[in-house]
Amino acid sequence: MKTALTIAGFDPSGGAGLQQDLKVFNAFGVYGMSAVAALTAQNSSGVASVEAVDSKFLKKQLEVLISDIVPDATKVGMLFSAGNVSAVASFLKKYRLKNIVLDPVIMSSSGMMLVEESVPELIRKKIFPLCTVITPNIREASVLSGIEITGIRDMAKAAVVLKGFGPEQVIITGGHLTGSAVDMRYDGTFSYLKGRRAPGTYHGTGCAFSSALAALLAAGNDVPEAAHIAKRFMGRSFRKSVSPGKGMRLFSL
Ligand code: PLP
Repeated sequence: MKTALTIAGFDPSGGAGLQQDLKVFNAFGVYGMSAVAALTAQNSSGVASVEAVDSKFLKKQLEVLISDIVPDATKVGMLFSAGNVSAVASFLKKYRLKNIVLDPVIMSSSGMMLVEESVPELIRKKIFPLCTVITPNIREASVLSGIEITGIRDMAKAAVVLKGFGPEQVIITGGHLTGSAVDMRYDGTFSYLKGRRAPGTYHGTGCAFSSALAALLAAGNDVPEAAHIAKRFMGRSFRKSVSPGKGMRLFSL
């Protein structure tokens, strides 16, 4: 059985972060593992509080795990602290891990910062060059590229800038654009993944898309194949989503 690892944040609601990632890995028939980088107190309405896991302890989790199981793919999500970014970059390099998917988490939908101030730049410098694919949404791509994205043309400009920082491929997810929900993939040439906009607000969509990509890469797909399948999976997940709380809809996989 293929294996995938998520290095991400803990979400008690199970709608985002590593709990969501593990459900997605399972949905694709890939054995899921997780290392926790940050703790959050949140529910379907938003994030109330965040704490980083000590970077020495994150490193310990990763070293102990990999002494036993080498993942076929790794998804990196919310790391929160500068120390955790450095620890994860060293880990990915030391073990020459392949199939690395980065969801460059910066802020929650509800507006809570999910990283220390120095982290976006550090991620760009230390983690981007190690990645098979990065999956920023419009807001993250704007912050990380310095280009304010209001439409498809800006998306393309930002994708070129972001690829310049070293990832093999960039997928900017367009779910937050007005108009159609087009994702853009850039690997030197552009391709587009169209989807119907789902009505309502959803929690954990970025986590689900990036962990679906990681599972699909672990299973042996290349990035273009994985992107198409992950996009279809997102469409199904929106349709099957549930609303057990008072806030955003959650995926039920
Ligand atoms: N909590 C954790 C642990 C996350 O990783 C993320 C996003 O990646 C969020 C919350 C934010 O999710 P949302 O954008 O749905 O609020």
